[in-house]
Amino acid sequence: MSPLTILLVEDEDKMRNVLKKYLENEGYLVEEAVDGKKALDIIIKKTFDLIMLDIMLPESDGWTICKEIRKSCQTPIIFLTARSEEFDKLLGFELGADDYVTKPFSPKELVARVNALIRRSQNNTLNTDYLIIKNLKINPDSKQVFINNTEILLTPKEYDLLYFLVRNPNKVYSRERLLNLVWDYDFLGDLRTVDTHIKQLRSKLGLYKNYLHTVWGSGYMLKAGD
Ligand code: CA
Repeated sequence: MSPLTILLVEDEDKMRNVLKKYLENEGYLVEEAVDGKKALDIIIKKTFDLIMLDIMLPESDGWTICKEIRKSCQTPIIFLTARSEEFDKLLGFELGADDYVTKPFSPKELVARVNALIRRSQNNTLNTDYLIIKNLKINPDSKQVFINNTEILLTPKEYDLLYFLVRNPNKVYSRERLLNLVWDYDFLGDLRTVDTHIKQLRSKLGLYKNYLHTVWGSGYMLKAGD
């Protein structure tokens, strides 16, 4: 089997060299790009198993490159961000990033994330009984949720709620009912728990937030048709 390939886009030499060394120790074949323009030139010509993308880059920043990549391919992308930079996780996931690590990071953790992401993206191509509604795809085995084949990361309860609604589309559920069914007990406390989770889900669904429909005075439902 030929080695898995990673494109490492990072302008700081020291950081790039360290990362390259760790990834090569893991058996990956690493190609380097030192700015956004070079990265895009390489990506047009070659495919990779994973792309590691620094945000602050000369020529073209990580956000722009991520958007460009997602126009044509679903290669897993990990953002590298500096702690000092204001990193907008949601924007990152909306643009199609799969994960991110904050510098300075532990090389062990980084390698673990790379391995996990590559494993997941390879599993995704195997046959699984996905639940699919429009651009939304759920893998009940791994509890992963994808929008346009890009994974979005949910908390366990957000996942449970979304999974329940996707299993039962076009039906209105009151907040009380959802608390009973999804939280699995007679909830005596705050119905706003449901609202909060719906809000989080919508924000993670980004452009597709309207799948989760509010029925005024009644509750929520997942719209499967138009
Ligand atoms: Ca940089």
